[in-house]
Amino acid sequence: MFTQKHIEHFSSLETPFYFYDLGLLKKTLEELKKAAPAHYHIHYALKANAHPTLLEMIRNAGLGADCVSGNEVKRALECKFKNTDIAFAGVGKGDKEINFALDNSIFCFNVESMHELKVIDQLAKNKNTKANIALRINPNVDAYTHKYITTGLEENKFGINPYEFDAVLEVLKTLSNLNFTGLHFHIGSQIQDLNPFKNLCIRANEINKWFIQKGFLLPHINLGGGLGVDYHQPETKAVVDFSSYFAIFKQFLELEPSQQIHFELGRSIIAQCGSLISRVLYIKNGINTNFAILDAGMTELIRPALYQAYHKIENISKPNMPNTTKYDVVGPICESSDCFGKAVELPLTERGNLIALRTAGAYGEVMSNHYNLREQVQSVFM
Ligand SMILES: *Cc1c(COP(=O)(O)O)cnc(C)c1O
Repeated sequence: MFTQKHIEHFSSLETPFYFYDLGLLKKTLEELKKAAPAHYHIHYALKANAHPTLLEMIRNAGLGADCVSGNEVKRALECKFKNTDIAFAGVGKGDKEINFALDNSIFCFNVESMHELKVIDQLAKNKNTKANIALRINPNVDAYTHKYITTGLEENKFGINPYEFDAVLEVLKTLSNLNFTGLHFHIGSQIQDLNPFKNLCIRANEINKWFIQKGFLLPHINLGGGLGVDYHQPETKAVVDFSSYFAIFKQFLELEPSQQIHFELGRSIIAQCGSLISRVLYIKNGINTNFAILDAGMTELIRPALYQAYHKIENISKPNMPNTTKYDVVGPICESSDCFGKAVELPLTERGNLIALRTAGAYGEVMSNHYNLREQVQSVFM
């Protein structure tokens, strides 16, 4: 992926920075459109990466927006997503955020608790308006992914549990400023085995039938996101196999013809398009361990420290050299968890070499922070 042209360009730039491959994003969006049946509505989950340059391409490809904060709703609107294509999820929406979304008449609030239903109804009443809401259901489907990114189990904080459904319908009868328009599911993230999605379809079918029996044929069913990417093979698996993913829903999801189907994909769209590029500051040779100390750390990419995530590490200044030496690749931050990889095999690595941390386009730059008073990480597009 990194050509001589990239490396020449990078060598004149200050590190660290995020590099985004816009050609790959374009290709990914084309493959996504090809794989998804035309009647599926795909929303992009802004929380994976909300950079306006990327959002513009995603919006131009015809995707809607899935937001989890008021500022994400604002960003989506600024980047010209239509208000009627914006969904707003999140377990703790603040009043200010809800009011902002109400003022902009978004497509839907995905509501995560009975209490939240009452609050949105009251805020809509204050504005003499009505809010479209979907119930975010906790389907109790195990995503078999890292426990910090599993969301669809009873023990997780997200969504409304089936044992609450009768009570929710009773409460909804009394809330006249809500339009109950759909059901929403999202079971977790970085799901590579497709079986959880099959289980999700089966649960969604059952739950949808239950609501239909109670007299609610809802126009919108949202299956969330969570499709995983291959962090080990950023080149050969640069674009996710969207066809196999959608094939599961085509095969197992059984809705009524009038019901519209929605998805919210984040990582699978943007992860492979981004790399964090840094320089080696120091090499420190120990008795058993060599350290390559980078000018990027957990402040720029927190995933390894936060959920033991793997990112492929490459010395792109030595593209054709064999991997001869093992390094613990670490950042400059004063935390022992500030480590991108242990015993990583690299070519003999020197001060000034450019190091790429691959597959960092999703949940990378958006999670960057200023711990140790670090500067805002820059982004570069090509
Ligand atoms: C994070 C999130 C998504 C996107 O998840 P990915 O794993 O990035 O596809 C979709 N929907 C909701 C509600 C989310 O919180």
